[in-house]
Amino acid sequence: MNNIKKPIVIVGSGFGGVNAALHLRKNNADFSILVIDSKTKFEFKPLLYEVFSNEIKSWEVNPSFNSIYANSGITFIQNHVNFIDFDKKLLFLKDDLKIEFEYLVLSTGSSPNDFSIKGVKEHCSFFSTNNDQFSLKKLLDKPISVGENNKIFIIGAGPSGVELACKVSDLYKSKFEVIIVEKTSEILNNSKIFNKEEAEKSINKKNINLMKNCSVLEITDEQILLSNNFNDIEKIPYFEVIWTAGIKPNLPEFNKQIQKINNKILINNNLQLQDFPNVFAIGDISQTDSNNGFPVTAQVAMQQGEHVAHNIKLIINNEKLLPFKFNDNGEMMSLGIGKASISGIGLTLSGKFAFDIRRIIYASKMPKIGRGLKSTASWFLEKKSIFKSIL
Ligand SMILES: Cc1cc2nc3c(=O)[nH]c(=O)nc-3n(C[C@H](O)[C@H](O)[C@H](O)COP(=O)(O)OP(=O)(O)OC[C@H]3O[C@@H](n4cnc5c(N)ncnc54)[C@H](O)[C@@H]3O)c2cc1C
Repeated sequence: MNNIKKPIVIVGSGFGGVNAALHLRKNNADFSILVIDSKTKFEFKPLLYEVFSNEIKSWEVNPSFNSIYANSGITFIQNHVNFIDFDKKLLFLKDDLKIEFEYLVLSTGSSPNDFSIKGVKEHCSFFSTNNDQFSLKKLLDKPISVGENNKIFIIGAGPSGVELACKVSDLYKSKFEVIIVEKTSEILNNSKIFNKEEAEKSINKKNINLMKNCSVLEITDEQILLSNNFNDIEKIPYFEVIWTAGIKPNLPEFNKQIQKINNKILINNNLQLQDFPNVFAIGDISQTDSNNGFPVTAQVAMQQGEHVAHNIKLIINNEKLLPFKFNDNGEMMSLGIGKASISGIGLTLSGKFAFDIRRIIYASKMPKIGRGLKSTASWFLEKKSIFKSIL
């Protein structure tokens, strides 16, 4: 076993980072583990739509990192990592703080990508964080005057765009016209067929206007400029534009050029950086070159978090590292108030029952994440005695 003098440092305490830290701690009481995150609270993003619709309270899905790591022996520091020197094994944080590491796990996640389209940053709302959902709700709750434009454009018909459109439509159908704009000819290009079909049914039923084969050229303070396949340009006034069309990895700066793929950190099958075997990168910020990459999901980040903990133990013990294998446990989608669709884990299911199961699965998947989610699960378990036999 290698003698470790400096800590194992995890930068980013989202789905990947929390799982890495807790699994590292689980079987290795003597490891010194330090977690750094810019925020004070965990964000359970898959349930952000339900926080937006008040179906879940934000405290239930945003436990503080202090509560997650309490009594675990894991040290948590709230700070932002700006720069990493891989050669000196040194992190440079805000306020001139420097931290040395022996092994490093990067799990800093992603944020919305505006693809440098003019006006997106200045004029759009986003839906990626708890602050985003709070600001959006505040904006949409504002009264609109008679004759004022009532069009809400949601850009991108991926899971985020479709799930958000369904909630916005259910919550504000008497007030706003909801329009989804999608560049390609299909919605949910990478989703399971069952979920795609259920989403299409929901979009039709809710009278959400779906503009396919339509790209955003520019957003001004009053209008959205769209172009179709024939390069016809349309300028449409809006009440609000919500940008859910893509993400980019959150990367600190590095002392060396590192290998990247699709702007993400290129990792090998053991989740290590190619040129720095003591550095691992997991979740939304990393990709292997063996395929198109794994889905950019919490499920992948969580599994990689657990795997990286195992591989760090192996590397410390001078043993051979194991390649990461993704175990696809299916896909769940929120489709409006009290409705969802599930495909995988041996079942396809939609509607109210799928909504309840989705919440239970999310709550029970992360029992260590905090009291909030545990209470969500127990609330359901009490209400739905049927699940007592399933779980
Ligand atoms: C609205 C929404 C809905 C989603 N729904 C689903 C879903 O239904 N199912 C699913 O599987 N996935 C879903 N996802 C995707 C999923 O949330 C991400 O894939 C997952 O969070 C990635 O985990 P991660 O650990 O890579 O990053 P994150 O969970 O985003 O965590 C990154 C952490 O790093 C911190 N950080 C970033 N930069 C720094 C820095 N320089 N210094 C210190 N800390 C830093 C951040 O504060 C954050 O806490 C959804 C995402 C969104 C936005």
